[in-house]
Amino acid sequence: MSESHTLEALFGGTFDPIHFGHLKPVEVLAAQVGLKKVTLLPNNVPPHRPQPEASPSQRVEMVRLAIANLPLFDLDLREMQRDTPSFTLETLTELRAERGDNQPLAFIIGQDSLLTLHKWHRWEELLSLCHLLVCKRPGYDSTMETPALQRWLEQHQIRQAEALHQHPCGRIFLADTPLVSISATEIRDRLHSGQSCDDLIPPAVSAYILAAGLYRKP
Ligand code: ATP
Repeated sequence: MSESHTLEALFGGTFDPIHFGHLKPVEVLAAQVGLKKVTLLPNNVPPHRPQPEASPSQRVEMVRLAIANLPLFDLDLREMQRDTPSFTLETLTELRAERGDNQPLAFIIGQDSLLTLHKWHRWEELLSLCHLLVCKRPGYDSTMETPALQRWLEQHQIRQAEALHQHPCGRIFLADTPLVSISATEIRDRLHSGQSCDDLIPPAVSAYILAAGLYRKP
């Protein structure tokens, strides 16, 4: 049991670019669960997806601009500073070693990531290092892709957030967050075809994309 530590939450992503679909659900999740800080972890070489269009430094700059006036959020560049693939398990192992065994740690994902978590590197070990907090995402139901993942969810899911604060790791909490129908893919597609995305991303990120000539028409 952990009594003197504050639950610490991490949110990894490609952020190509960061958008309101990342920020809004997590703000609601933080209020629901009682998170004081959410640390964004932009990944360098995402192992299971196509390479990002924006460079690592551009993605970091967009994250910085997006959170500049949002005190809930923080930024951790450790995955950017490695040139090996960003495996969440390795990052969490490193953080766990730094924080010690009693610190409650949580990793935030969207529902789409939960459904395919069995594709993550050594996914069954994740809960030995952290809790998982899951935000709803439109278009993704509750059907896990494999029976093993479904069983794992049933074994570890909790319905009340209190246990997240009382234990260092091992629980999965599906939060009641708003459905925000935005993806970075849609943003890149819209920008490629010359459409505006001002309603989908923070204004400072829009201005940066324009000035840097990012996601232009091919
Ligand atoms: P892409 O469209 O390029 O695949 P993305 O919009 O899904 O990108 P990522 O940076 O890959 O964004 O996502 C990081 C995390 O944010 C993932 O866990 C993902 O599930 C979650 N996420 C992204 N968009 C949303 C959204 N609209 N609602 C809830 N969670 C989201």
